[in-house]
Amino acid sequence: MSWNKVCTSIESAEKYRKYVEEWEGKIHSMLEYRIEKSEAAKQAEKGELSGLPFAVKDNIAVKNFNLTCGSKMLENFVSPYNATAVKKLKEKGCIPVGKTNMDEFGMGSSTDNSALAVTNNPWDLERVCGGSSGGSAAAVAAGLVPFSLGSDTGGSVRQPASFCGIYGLKPTYGSVSRYGLVSYASSLDVIGILSKKTDIIESVFRAVRGFDPNDQTSIDYKDSNELSLPEKPVFSVLKNIKGLSDEVNDAYLNAVKTLKDKGYELREIELPVLEYVVPAYYTIAAAEASANLARYNGIRYGYRSPKGETPAELMKKSRDEGFGDEVKLRILLGTYVLRSGFRDRYYIKAQKIRTKIVKEFDAIFKTSDLIILPSFPIPAFKHGDENMSQYQQKVADKFTATANLAGIPALSFPAGEYNSLPVGLQFFAPRYGEKMLLDAAGILENDFPVSDPPGFKSAEEIVG
Ligand code: GLN
Repeated sequence: MSWNKVCTSIESAEKYRKYVEEWEGKIHSMLEYRIEKSEAAKQAEKGELSGLPFAVKDNIAVKNFNLTCGSKMLENFVSPYNATAVKKLKEKGCIPVGKTNMDEFGMGSSTDNSALAVTNNPWDLERVCGGSSGGSAAAVAAGLVPFSLGSDTGGSVRQPASFCGIYGLKPTYGSVSRYGLVSYASSLDVIGILSKKTDIIESVFRAVRGFDPNDQTSIDYKDSNELSLPEKPVFSVLKNIKGLSDEVNDAYLNAVKTLKDKGYELREIELPVLEYVVPAYYTIAAAEASANLARYNGIRYGYRSPKGETPAELMKKSRDEGFGDEVKLRILLGTYVLRSGFRDRYYIKAQKIRTKIVKEFDAIFKTSDLIILPSFPIPAFKHGDENMSQYQQKVADKFTATANLAGIPALSFPAGEYNSLPVGLQFFAPRYGEKMLLDAAGILENDFPVSDPPGFKSAEEIVG
């Protein structure tokens, strides 16, 4: 018995549902789940993905499931269609079984910014699971699904993957259609994949990538575009990284030493532009968010305040009551940086930094194949940790948001446990380098194997 069998009979689907419910009582990773025997599982052609259940972040459309974005604004919104990525996976015989909790509209790094539920880290229930795709990471870590979809605008797939001890791939910008992904910051958003197995990520990525006429920013990603890892890859390593916790610092040094011991060539680099990533990222992300979120006005869909007497008042009250604090902050920030006469000072400047980042990476990838970086400066923190305010969480995004500004692919991989908590690190690769990332993770797989939180059961153990 394995994952592709769990939904083939009423009996096994029932055992599977019980396992999910036991965990969900503790972690609340999904806002909605439906586990039942599926004809699709039986009929699916014999492929690697056929019959596999999967969970989907609640900002990605799955027909007839809710699409809440973790917001009161869309609490009762049911999706009338499938996102292209979901449609493609269903065609391969995969079965969407749940919608996962997230920071409201993808804004945050803990999932505690969800208006609808609090998700706990399966490794330690007092800690956050990371965000914004926190539910997607927690569900995979607890063994509720073999893979899940998330979205990554500034690190939201990789950071929760690192907090939960699993792999998280943020693909090249445009490689996966954004059709059906609710927009946060359109020039940065990409659908990503979370799993404990790199071969599943590879198969899922192959299934979902490619041009989609419904998303004009999507790219025609052919097998021939795929870059592969040379036999003796060269790794760039960051010199003098500041601000890491002891755990993450040790994990980084250990991984670098392991690569060195295996005989790989390492190149020390400095990435001066890293210091400008957070201001540039938050300027661009907030500017785009303020435009994208203008559609939630209480008129066409979503939450409508019962209090508005005039159309203007109705819009104002609906937005005031429907959005949470962090979302309001981003809308205000975005409106501020875009206001007339100030574009040069903030938005244009941020775009110039973005261009500089792209150039720095182009130069690095001329002499090395991959870059190794931390995913986040600390491991999973506790709910309500005063040292991790919303501001500090933003500052900590610098290692992940860089890849979004550059449009390049990145993978967070498990790099051991420290004080019983998983720590993740990342590889960055040039555009079209997803296969390189997954193969590089394979190099370290035996030294830093994926491990499971206490109480985890494999699919075989669940259905017996
Ligand atoms: N923490 C970042 C933010 O709040 C990342 C979000 C994301 O990737 N969706 O914007």
